[in-house]
Amino acid sequence: MNYSFDFMYDIIKNRNKDYDGVFFTCVKSTGIFCLPSCKAKTPFSKNVEFISTALEAKEKGYRPCRRCHPMNGPHFYPKWLEKIETYLANNLNRAVLDLELSNLVNLEISTVRRHFKNKHTLSLKEFHRNLRLEKARKLMQEGKTMKEIHPLVGYQSVKGLKLAYTKHLGIM
Ligand SMILES: [Zn+2]
Repeated sequence: MNYSFDFMYDIIKNRNKDYDGVFFTCVKSTGIFCLPSCKAKTPFSKNVEFISTALEAKEKGYRPCRRCHPMNGPHFYPKWLEKIETYLANNLNRAVLDLELSNLVNLEISTVRRHFKNKHTLSLKEFHRNLRLEKARKLMQEGKTMKEIHPLVGYQSVKGLKLAYTKHLGIM
């Protein structure tokens, strides 16, 4: 974020939509953070802190504004998360290792986990398991047996798949 405070303050005064997702306005007096285009009254500059990601704003203890919903919209999440999602979706027949994922995007696995959870509210493992079990459900609907399906969705036994599947349906 290479903009000056005055530049950004001007953006929020004008409610300029072009900068939504580029930076966030955190309001120290209310503990709320907003998109630059938020329609709410522009806060006094002394109460404003600008932050580059919604995640950082949340980590600093700010809550998302109910008016502009700064957590919504795909462009507020790092682009590389899509690589992770595709990779998980393309590897349903086995467990995916942390190392593969961190190598894929060249980031620490803890960073990957943090951003992933922030976007999906599921861990990498939970997300991957859901994909695998949804695939199992589809294959069952096509008439395949559990015995045929379990190696295709990364379960070592029919028993393991059955257990996970029942639990999955139970929580859906
Ligand atoms: Zn707002």
